[in-house]
Amino acid sequence: MASSSFLHSTHPTSSSSAAADASTLLLRYTPDFCAFAPLRPTRQLTRARWAPTPRVPAPEQPQDADPCCADDASSLSAPTASPGAVLRVGIVGFGNFGQFIAAGIQRQGHAVLATSRSDYSDYCARHGIRFFATVEALCEARPDVLLLCSSILSTEAVVRTIPFHKLHPDTVVADVLSVKQFPRNLLLQILPPGFGIVCTHPMFGPESGKNGWNGLPFVYDKVRVAQDGDQAAKCEQFLSMFEREGCRMVEMSCAEHDRYAAGSQFITHTIGRILAQLDLKSTPINTKGYETLLKLSENTVSDSFDLYYGLFMYNVNATEQMDNLEMAFEKVKQMLYGRLHDLLRKQIVERVPIPGAPSVMSNEAQINAAGIPSSLL
Ligand code: NAP
Repeated sequence: MASSSFLHSTHPTSSSSAAADASTLLLRYTPDFCAFAPLRPTRQLTRARWAPTPRVPAPEQPQDADPCCADDASSLSAPTASPGAVLRVGIVGFGNFGQFIAAGIQRQGHAVLATSRSDYSDYCARHGIRFFATVEALCEARPDVLLLCSSILSTEAVVRTIPFHKLHPDTVVADVLSVKQFPRNLLLQILPPGFGIVCTHPMFGPESGKNGWNGLPFVYDKVRVAQDGDQAAKCEQFLSMFEREGCRMVEMSCAEHDRYAAGSQFITHTIGRILAQLDLKSTPINTKGYETLLKLSENTVSDSFDLYYGLFMYNVNATEQMDNLEMAFEKVKQMLYGRLHDLLRKQIVERVPIPGAPSVMSNEAQINAAGIPSSLL
């Protein structure tokens, strides 16, 4: 198992009173792109400590109009550090992905509390989740883990409204944003010192994970977690949920994640968005490759444009990848048109013998020399 390290990551240089905007948070931590550190070993489940223990979810009270009034906060704040205990995960941002991840947390026998900008109380009532009208009320219920599932674009505003003083002082704050340096820096800057920080990115979503999470990559960085005690145990318990779902656990720094994700996930989303602009249609003669493109286009646009824009805006590597993509397209065009140009030049210009020049080939020989198989002529 990868070891926890307390404060092993760099803190922001100062806690300036001026609110840093998103671009400051990104630029201040521009990674060293030359350093292609190898992936750290994937997390190993320590069977003895985390042996599967049947868990019974804590009975969450039914949703009230004002849940915080009904809470006895002290009874809810008891540490749940022992392995196999029910973890209470408070989700902030209960949209598409928040609901999807809540289902996995519940499958693992843990309790979900939720709050969001919109009212999801009906959905929560149907799914055994306690919904809170405000983030203050959720914090007063003192979850063990606060899991940020808001859009990348809204995260800074959302985090700045969280009354952290209402939470247990060793709460673990985690996020699932598809970019990682930005939330890492933001949380290091805003969170009180005792809070644990775990930045994660489940590399799957409601579409790719609809048939289970087995074998799907789960990236995490224990940015700031106590080495032992309740916080360490809660963090392990939180991560072990994904492990037990069969995810491939990849421990990686946030900077490394963003470097890899720009070259893989951002490119995938961009190609998917370009294909969607072409409005591709299924045909009676689809090849397997074309079927893959149709699926990619469909899957990509099922995510919000905010998510895609967040991948671009909040990953410092994204513009470089956009430029690479444009250059690659130009290069492919040049390869095609360059060859066509050679062919036409031979046909049009060299057709007429030039006195003193080497003898001219027949039209067919010229065309073959340009690389077109005679079978196609
Ligand atoms: P999204 O469009 O990125 O985010 C939607 C969520 O953000 C909803 O909970 C929404 O709240 C909240 N939100 C949006 N604007 C807000 C604002 N101005 N103020 C407060 N809350 C706001 O779509 P998503 O797919 O649900 O993604 C959520 C997070 O999960 C993102 O950070 C994303 O990067 C990450 N993620 C997504 C996937 C995926 O496959 N979709 C995979 C891995 C990670 P309301 O619904 O209450 O309006």
